[in-house]
Amino acid sequence: MEDTYRHKGMRRKMVENLRKMGIASDEVLKAMGEIPRHLFIDSVFDSQAYQDKAFSIGEDQTISHPSTVAQQSTLLEVFPGAKVLEVGTGSGYQAYVLDQLKAEVYSIERQKSLYLKTKALLSGFRSRVRCFYGDGYQGLPQFAPFDRILVTCGAAAMPMDLLPQLKIGGIMVIPLGSPKQVMTKIIRKTETDLEVSRHGNCHFVPMLPEKTGERQHVS
Ligand code: SAH
Repeated sequence: MEDTYRHKGMRRKMVENLRKMGIASDEVLKAMGEIPRHLFIDSVFDSQAYQDKAFSIGEDQTISHPSTVAQQSTLLEVFPGAKVLEVGTGSGYQAYVLDQLKAEVYSIERQKSLYLKTKALLSGFRSRVRCFYGDGYQGLPQFAPFDRILVTCGAAAMPMDLLPQLKIGGIMVIPLGSPKQVMTKIIRKTETDLEVSRHGNCHFVPMLPEKTGERQHVS
């Protein structure tokens, strides 16, 4: 499928709506204004692809709402060259937004079918996102430390192995809590001090333990 004038028009409206909803980062809005979200979801949703909706991407998972992607990307304060770990590759849309923000993205997914499909899709876009199949609770210690960590599934409690993988001064954005989740931003001030701020309730698919027991990191 291609990126038509109709898609571009719908995308412009999506960006206008995000701005009205309070998303203030011009960089994030620009990236989302350029990325063809309809190519990250099933073509049956084509006409609704730029509405503020989550859609099924298979395996009981969903692509996040555009407003959620915009909020998380803004809270993350990405800068060009930032080394970012994303937990929950899913459709790859959020990872591609970070890539367009010129981050160096490492994204990890626990469902093999999604990992394989999205890795192929992202390489078709010539993105530099590096996809990994594995358990986000463990992160990617071999590539740590990261400037930023973004968790795109809901964690009942803080995944303790991720914190040491965040640089001092680094930022983590994570939906935390169960059953209700709160969008949480954590700045790692020093080795031991964290600055925590909360940014409203949110609803993500749960962050689940490793699916297969198989430990495999492929990029
Ligand atoms: N960022 C994605 C959001 C997908 S939904 C997007 O833009 O589409 C969340 C994803 O997190 C799902 O694909 C789910 O399989 C994955 N996930 C859940 N628990 C995980 C874990 N422990 N490690 C890695 N990925 C996980």
